[in-house]
Amino acid sequence: MTHEECALSNESLANLLKEERRFAPPAELAAAANVTAAAYAQASEDRLGFWAEQARRLTWAVEPTETLDWSNPPFAKWFADGKLNIAYNCVDRHVEAGHGDRVAIHFEGEPGDGRSITYAQLKDEVSQAANALLELGVTKGDRVAIYLPMIPEAVVSMLACARIGATHSVVFGGFSADAVASRIQDARAKLVITADGGYRRGKPSALKPAIDEALTKAEGVEHVLVVRRTGQDTVWTEGRDVWWHEITARQSTEHTPEAHEAEHPLFILYTSGTTGKPKGILHTSGGYLTQASYTHHAVFDLKPETDVYWCTADIGWVTGHSYIVYGPLSNGATQVIYEGTPDTPHQGRFWEVVQKYGVTILYTAPTAIRTFMKWGDDIPAKFDLSSLRVLGSVGEPINPEAWIWYREHIGGSEAPIVDTWWQTETGAIMISPLPGVTETKPGSAQRALPGIAATVVDDNGTEVANGSGGYLVLTEPWPSMLRTIWGDDQRYIDTYWSRFEGRYFAGDGAKKDEDGDIWLLGRVDDVMLVSGHNISTTEVESALVGHPSVAESAVVGATDATTGQAIVAFVILRGTATDSPELVEELRAHVGRTLGPIAKPKQIKVVGELPKTRSGKIMRRLLRDIAEGREIGDTTTLADSTVMNLIQAQLPPAG
Ligand code: ATP
Ligand code: MG
Repeated sequence: MTHEECALSNESLANLLKEERRFAPPAELAAAANVTAAAYAQASEDRLGFWAEQARRLTWAVEPTETLDWSNPPFAKWFADGKLNIAYNCVDRHVEAGHGDRVAIHFEGEPGDGRSITYAQLKDEVSQAANALLELGVTKGDRVAIYLPMIPEAVVSMLACARIGATHSVVFGGFSADAVASRIQDARAKLVITADGGYRRGKPSALKPAIDEALTKAEGVEHVLVVRRTGQDTVWTEGRDVWWHEITARQSTEHTPEAHEAEHPLFILYTSGTTGKPKGILHTSGGYLTQASYTHHAVFDLKPETDVYWCTADIGWVTGHSYIVYGPLSNGATQVIYEGTPDTPHQGRFWEVVQKYGVTILYTAPTAIRTFMKWGDDIPAKFDLSSLRVLGSVGEPINPEAWIWYREHIGGSEAPIVDTWWQTETGAIMISPLPGVTETKPGSAQRALPGIAATVVDDNGTEVANGSGGYLVLTEPWPSMLRTIWGDDQRYIDTYWSRFEGRYFAGDGAKKDEDGDIWLLGRVDDVMLVSGHNISTTEVESALVGHPSVAESAVVGATDATTGQAIVAFVILRGTATDSPELVEELRAHVGRTLGPIAKPKQIKVVGELPKTRSGKIMRRLLRDIAEGREIGDTTTLADSTVMNLIQAQLPPAG
C-alpha cells in the first residue's frame, strides 16, 4: 500500500523526531521493585491466570472461579461469579490488618487549612455516610451524582456509594449548571451530593447555585446533600436539601458492608470532551478494582508503609477515580489531596506541598509540567524535593523536553518517569514503563503492562512493523474495560469495536520504534496530511517545545489549496523570550531541522493562552476553526470560555 491510500502512512515516519536519550532504572529501586520483568513472561504465558492472581490481591466475600466471560463480545464479564465490597477493600480490611492508625489522606486546603485522616477514621466516616445515604432512601442500584470540590468528603461520598451498591456519577466541580443537568438526567440520579463551595484561586467559589439551577432542568432528584466547606451564604430548599454534617453526625459509625456481584455497576463517568460530546462510560466492580489496584502497585511501586503518594488530578476525572480513590486506597496508601490551584498563593505551592508531606511519588499531567517550565526553574529550586522517587505523567503525550525538565528539576535527575497511557474507557493504566524494570525513553509510553495486549495497526488492521505508525488498538479484553456507554450499547459497539474487527479502537495515533516501543502521536482526528505526508501534531509540537524559547505549543492542519493541509502552530513563549518576526522564522527553521522540511509550519502564531478542556488538554479542533477562519465550534467543555476571544484578539485578521 502506498501512503496516499492510507490515512496514517508509514512513509512519513522516516522524518520523525529522533530521541536517543535513555535512562536506566535506579539500581536501588530496581532491586526492591514491587514488579519485575518476570511479570511480562508470566502474563504472556497465561494471561487469564495472571489476572486471576491479581484479583486475589483483593478480598472477596465469594471468591470468583471464572476469570473472563467473552462469549458475547464486545460485552465482557470478569470474575462474574465472585462477590466483593469495594469500600471494604479500600478501607475496612486495612483496619482489620492492624493499619488503622496509618494516615489515608493528608488533606491540604487551598487556604492552608487541612487535616489528616487515618484508615480507622476513614472507616467511621464512610460508614456514617453510607448510613446517611440509606436514611435518605438511596439503595443498591440507584444513581448518585457527586459535584464536589477536592475535599475528603468527595472520597468519602464515592466510597459510601460503593459500600451500599449505589452507582456514582462524579461531575467535575467546574462544570456549568447545564453540563451538570444533562449528566444528572442521563444517569437518572436520585441524590446529588454537593458543597456550599470550594476554594479556587484564593476565594470561595460557590457550587450549590449550579445544582439549584440544574435541578430546574433535570428531574427525579429527591435530595441534595450539602457539605459545608466555605461557610458562604447558601440558598436552601426545605425538605429537599440536607446538610452533610447534620445527617452524618447522627449516624452510627458501624455499617456492615454487603457483598456485591463483581459485575455490579460501580460508576458512570463522562469523558473529558476533548474531541466532541462526552460519553457516559460505565465501569463495574471486581475487574475494575483488580486492575486499578494492580496497576497502582506496579506502575508507582507503592510501598504502603513508607511512601507518601500524591496524584494532582481532580476527582472529577478518571485519574481521580482510579488513582486517588480506588487504586491507592485498595493498596493502603498514604496520600495527599490538595484542593486548589498550583499558583495559589504562589507558583511554588506544589513544591511546598511535596516538601511539607515528604511526597515520594508524584502523578501529574503534561499541561502542569509545561506550565511549571514556563514559570521558571528557580521556583522548584527553592524547595526540598529530595523525597521524590517516582514521577508519573498522564493525559496527553509528554513532549521529550518537558519530560527531561520534569526529571531534572523535579526528580533530581534520578527519579524514573512513568508516562502512563490510558483513557476513561480503559479504567486503568494500559501502557507504561515499570519504574524498576524499564529503561525509559523521553516521550514514549513504551510497552503494554503485563496482562495487557496493545499494538499499532494500519488502515487495513494489519499490525505495522517496528519503525512504522498507524492506529493504537487493544487486542484482548482487559479487567477494567468499560462495559458499555450508559444506556447506549449500540454507540459502544460503533465507537470502539467497529473500526477493526474484534479489536478495541482507541482513537489515538501511535508508532512503534525500532525496539517495538510505543509512542503516542495524538488523536487520529488531529493527524495532518501535508502534500501526501502524514504528520503528527504531537511531533511538531514536541519539536517546537524543544526550542529554548517555547514553553507550550499546539499544532493544527488547516485546509490549503496547494498542499491539502498546511501546518499552523500556536506557541506560548517562555518567560525570557519575546515575540519577533526573527524568532518566528527561527522556530520554523528549527522544526525543519528537527523533523525535515515537510514539517515546517506554514504559519506560527504567538499567543498568551491555548484553549484547554477542564482537565488541561489542548482542544485543537477550536484552533483549527481559527486557522481556517470559521466560526468557533462547541466550547462547552473548555476550561475558560474567554480564551478563544483572547487568542482571536491577539491575531491579525485571517488571510
Ligand atoms: P473525549 O473522548 O470526550 O474526546 P478525552 O479522550 O480527552 O475526551 P480522557 O478519557 O480523559 O478523555 O482522555 C483519554 C485520552 O487522553 C487518550 O485517548 C489520549 O488521547 C490521551 N492520553 C492520556 N494519557 C496519555 C499519554 N500518556 N500519552 C499520550 N496520550 C495520552
Ligand atoms: Mg477519548
